[in-house]
Amino acid sequence: MKREESSKLFDKAKTLFPGGVNSPVRAFKSVGGSPIFFESGKGAILKDVDGNEFIDFCCSYGPLILGHANDKVVENVQKTVARGTSFGAPTKEENELADTILSNHRYIERIRFVNSGTEAAMSAIRLARGYTGKNKIIKFEGCYHGHVDSLLVKAGSGLATLGTSSSAGVPEDTVKDTIVLPLNNKEAVEEAVKKYKGEIAAIALEPIPANNGLLIQGKEYLQFLRDVCDREGILLFFDEVISGFRVGFEGAAGYYDIQPDLIAFGKIIGGGLPVGAYAASEKVMSSVSPEGPVYQAGTLSGNPVAMSAGIAQIKECLKPGFYTELAEKTDKFCSSIESYAKEKGYDFTMPHIGSIFWLAFSNEAIKSADAIPQESGDHFKKLHAILLDNGVHLGPSGFEVGFVSEAHSNDELEKAASEIKKALDQLF
Ligand code: PLP
Repeated sequence: MKREESSKLFDKAKTLFPGGVNSPVRAFKSVGGSPIFFESGKGAILKDVDGNEFIDFCCSYGPLILGHANDKVVENVQKTVARGTSFGAPTKEENELADTILSNHRYIERIRFVNSGTEAAMSAIRLARGYTGKNKIIKFEGCYHGHVDSLLVKAGSGLATLGTSSSAGVPEDTVKDTIVLPLNNKEAVEEAVKKYKGEIAAIALEPIPANNGLLIQGKEYLQFLRDVCDREGILLFFDEVISGFRVGFEGAAGYYDIQPDLIAFGKIIGGGLPVGAYAASEKVMSSVSPEGPVYQAGTLSGNPVAMSAGIAQIKECLKPGFYTELAEKTDKFCSSIESYAKEKGYDFTMPHIGSIFWLAFSNEAIKSADAIPQESGDHFKKLHAILLDNGVHLGPSGFEVGFVSEAHSNDELEKAASEIKKALDQLF
């Protein structure tokens, strides 16, 4: 496969950006080789600058639940952008997106738009602390909440890939109130809440952890966390930047029917443009400035162009049967590959939930970061290279999950499944 143009562009990018990229995982560090520069995308297909085409399962790490360049999203953005890009004042688009979300999501009553998932998680943590008057936060190994200083501890995603458990530049003092616990371990939670009784503002987690592989938790464990929070006066914070609007319109809260106290959103909410949000009950959100004492602001927050992309995408997600069809398609795709691997006796499964899936080099259900087999990184590296050469694009790290979009056709999924099966034959 020809990659000259991508290579040339990456050589230039390395003279412009640290590592040649604007977000670390894009540099292909964990899979080796040189990143691909894409030129365009339509539906499930990405086209690179050398003219190669790929069936895309990265979907920009999650936002593109309708696929690339969805007509309705593009049209709505074009209509809005022609009227101006930003007014620094309230717009009707903010109302429309918020109203569409709040009137179809039973677990939240008020929302505040920001510009990224990181901002959303950061603001939610500030709100939890401001609302409760407590400082400590429990987070879990392998859960990622963006590059928020106090949460950059055993965070997964790019950090797991790079093999660092934290980041330089985050002072000890900043993380001294962050309690990091293993996932799926009730005793660890009980011990921590006993030790720090009365000091914990929130238990923060990805209810569907999807940044260190896909570590699907049981409902019973999530309910346990809810019960502990109720018992101890702690807020339960669901970071639904990936799972929100992905496993159902009401995200993991709706999927498991568990009421969190705070939710962070990102990715899908912006239709591929930079939008994040945090949301909660009216009571909790009334602590946010200017109504309450917790300060949070943003020059471009609620930007009308980004809102318009979000509105168009979110409304499509409300079509009857949207999530059922997506989940069925994903299940068929993953199950076909899993059955093949099982027949052949390969140590390989494809855990999936809704339209999120992961390539796991194990036949056991993996529920915590430490249960991921050592050799997974190496296996993924080989698989990733074979698949790229054969027109299947996955995120360039074995810790990243894949996404199926509405745009993936049965033919495209069958073709991709067949390539993955052939790649497994080469690998094992
Ligand atoms: N929270 C979760 C669960 C995420 O997966 C991510 C990004 O992948 C973030 C927060 C940060 O979002 P962003 O990259 O938009 O800042």
